[in-house]
Amino acid sequence: MFQIDKSKAKYEQAKQHLAGGVASSLRASMKPTPLYAESAKGARLRDVDGNEFIDYLLAYGPLILGHAHDGLTDAILMAMRKGYTYGLQHDGEIELADLLVEILPCADKVALSGSGTEAVMLALRLARAHTGKRKVVRFHGHYHGWSDSIFTSFPGAGLQQSTAAKQAATVPPGTMGQSESSLEDIILLPWNDVVSLESTLRAHAGEIAAVISEPVMCNSGCIQPNVGYLEELRRLTEELGIVFILDEVITGFRLGLGGAHERFGIKPDLVTIGKAMGGGIAVSAVGGKAEIMKHIDTAEVSHLGTLNGNGVATAAALATIRELAKDNGAVYARMEELFIKLSTGIRELLHKRHISGVINQVGPVFHMMFIDEKEVNNFDTFNKRDSGKYARFAELMLEEGVLLRPNGLWYISAVHEQADIDATLLAVDRALGLLVV
Ligand code: PMP
Repeated sequence: MFQIDKSKAKYEQAKQHLAGGVASSLRASMKPTPLYAESAKGARLRDVDGNEFIDYLLAYGPLILGHAHDGLTDAILMAMRKGYTYGLQHDGEIELADLLVEILPCADKVALSGSGTEAVMLALRLARAHTGKRKVVRFHGHYHGWSDSIFTSFPGAGLQQSTAAKQAATVPPGTMGQSESSLEDIILLPWNDVVSLESTLRAHAGEIAAVISEPVMCNSGCIQPNVGYLEELRRLTEELGIVFILDEVITGFRLGLGGAHERFGIKPDLVTIGKAMGGGIAVSAVGGKAEIMKHIDTAEVSHLGTLNGNGVATAAALATIRELAKDNGAVYARMEELFIKLSTGIRELLHKRHISGVINQVGPVFHMMFIDEKEVNNFDTFNKRDSGKYARFAELMLEEGVLLRPNGLWYISAVHEQADIDATLLAVDRALGLLVV
């Protein structure tokens, strides 16, 4: 029997001194209550009420090796025993930089930081320093972290914004409290639309420092780039002297060892990676062309952070990447194959129960939506999905022993097995049955 009494009580207790009751605003959206984890191993997580789940939330993406992976845990413990952070330089930084440059097709050099948000902040700074220009083009439905200079209104984020703030800016801020001028340099465009991209870039080329894009719109429907779109983005930015930043915080080390830019054969000027790179430990990186990264070498661009490149972070990233790289990255094909079985099975169950839904999948990540459309290939269509119904489904899935992100994005790890997929499909069948009654 699904129990939530202890989680509920802890949430009430947490709210007394922990602002918002959770450590990251999105987590408060889980229904029927934010759950409290007790422990987790592999593809399974146990909460404080004793419920056990097959986990497809995977901590919002990082846990590509699953929970408490033995090899990764050993590497972390070894690093901790040696001294977890020095404020001095150490071999781990060099090894990680060498490995990233070897693996990431677009990186001549890398810089290390602690979160995706920080990596994006650095990439934007590098782009501005390199071009001497200010403006940044970003796209509707993409998410690039929560820093003031890039955080815009993000459907599903559950964050409130004042009406005044909404009316004042053409680019809506993502949250109250964001400085009014923070988004002045942002140009917000629809994604996957070559016409608006080309006309905007040509009209403002003299002011635009960078275009930042997720390679796949993972944060809003897992929508793939149209054929030729990323290529056109690459071609135009190159022609017009604009830095092309590919935000691979989700897709890096998830869609393949070389991330989406290897998968799609695109060479951005800068790439940001995080999440899966550290297997669940806080670490991120910017990689890119030597001519842009050199602004850090010359100290024209400041890149700071007390815990950047700490021993635990570098050991975790090295262990995660080496594990993923075994047998030439064979684990990616395995994850993809299992996940296709799962998404195909869910589509069949939706069909069987006459429920309209779409699942957009790119390798080891997919987005499931309840929607009366045949396909979801742009942000406007994505916004027509029934997110309330999905949240209800995610809640029913908890009762069936499957942990999902309430917004529809599913991740798989290297340690999920066929038996997990089979059990999940039975759970989906039951949850869909309850959803329609
Ligand atoms: N970029 C993208 C594409 C992301 O999905 C995220 C996080 N979901 C970020 C940046 C920010 O990363 P972090 O939460 O580690 O700051």
